Amino acid sequence: MPSGEYEKEERYCAICKKKLRPLYKNKDWDSRKYHVTCFRDLLADIKNFDTVAYTKYKYKKKVNGIPIEDIPPDHKFVLDFS
Ligand SMILES: [Zn+2]
Repeated sequence: MPSGEYEKEERYCAICKKKLRPLYKNKDWDSRKYHVTCFRDLLADIKNFDTVAYTKYKYKKKVNGIPIEDIPPDHKFVLDFS
């Protein structure tokens, strides 16, 4: 049973897309967009982005805008220090 006055309102977490539990007594309910756990996970990911970017978020390591696995072994880069 949700706390506070029941309103027929369904909101979904902007991160995991699952339903938010209606917590009307909480002061931040009007502006709440995320589960607390989802938000904490997001902050932890931002803090450790250099490690989770390539695994969890599928970023690709690039050299000069080219993904590393797409660079042929005989490719030559020209360094310009001007
Ligand atoms: Zn969530």
